[in-house]
Amino acid sequence: MVGSSSLVLSPRALQASDKKLQKLSFIVITDTHVGYRDQDGAANRWERMATELAREKGDLILHLGDVVDGGRESQYPIYLKSRKKIGIPVHEIPGNHDPEELFSRYVRKQIDTVVNYDWLRFLLLNNAHTDSHDGFLTEEQLDWIDKHCKQAARENKLVAICMHVPAHKNQHPDRGWYVKPKNGQTKLYEIIRKYEKQVLALMHGHFHNGLRGWNDHSPVHEICFPSALYNLNRNLEKQKALGYNPKEFRPGYTLVTIDAGNMKLTYKPLGAPASVSKMCPLQQKETSFNEGS
Ligand SMILES: [Zn+2]
Repeated sequence: MVGSSSLVLSPRALQASDKKLQKLSFIVITDTHVGYRDQDGAANRWERMATELAREKGDLILHLGDVVDGGRESQYPIYLKSRKKIGIPVHEIPGNHDPEELFSRYVRKQIDTVVNYDWLRFLLLNNAHTDSHDGFLTEEQLDWIDKHCKQAARENKLVAICMHVPAHKNQHPDRGWYVKPKNGQTKLYEIIRKYEKQVLALMHGHFHNGLRGWNDHSPVHEICFPSALYNLNRNLEKQKALGYNPKEFRPGYTLVTIDAGNMKLTYKPLGAPASVSKMCPLQQKETSFNEGS
């Protein structure tokens, strides 16, 4: 009982340690690029994927941007038509190929928004500009993230921040596309550091490099998810690039399950059995994931 005299448990902390967190299962897709090269290929692939997604287990789907290719307005209804087959909620964010105005007209009026999923809260943000591969966060967006992390801490929830372009400084042999310090990266990492017990992950699309992630801001996971259309092998692991990039580059989506203190990412290539997976431990979180907390 060392130190027990100074240990004061708030009602919330007691509640958290009593409650077993429910297992969560959801799916992440990204970079469908419907209308790519003005051909039907991407739309057809997306239609096949939607048919597969309808059979998957999972409570919701996140789409991390580049819904259509090159801002082709005519492609949004085509995207939405296949999406209807899925049968569970799909929450999109825009990518650099999705002009904000078209995204809000066809996909969702309110672009930056919050999706609550049991004890996890997704913050959905647009950090992409149509004329750049880099990411950009405004002061207003950073304050919004800060506010929601603070609120999540009060409510004992975890947060996943979803934005198309990664924040992680990645350079050659990586793409080198990220939220540069002057575009909000510095402040974003300050917020994340402040709430690192709340922030589970930063989730992105944009890279078309399969499952690409970094752990150097542990305990926060930073992940670029595989594209539904195409992925390129940049031989990152061979070149000893920071982080991980398991060998699987077929078009696909990612099954995510969070259970027993681990977030498991499973790469599901389109039309093929589940392939590689990656375990992301949930460390130092303000929840009952830490046994005996
Ligand atoms: Zn992109």
